[in-house]
Amino acid sequence: MPELTCQELVELVTDYLDGALDPDTARRFEEHVAECPGCQTYVEQLEETASRLGTIPAESLSEEMQAFLRSAFRDLRR
Ligand SMILES: [Zn+2]
Repeated sequence: MPELTCQELVELVTDYLDGALDPDTARRFEEHVAECPGCQTYVEQLEETASRLGTIPAESLSEEMQAFLRSAFRDLRR
């Protein structure tokens, strides 16, 4: 089973928070998050936003978040 990339994780995160992933994908998601500080921060921020708003905003990938992700992932690749 190939590991998820950061890009794939970002695409899956709303489904994950919705509990909409199949168990296998959810497990790979969690494995990636456990090993990837950038995605860990990202998921935590989204979870926090979701619990504050009671829902995951459709605009969860705001410009601010995208900029944050770009810099986080750039740091990781170094
Ligand atoms: Zn990652």
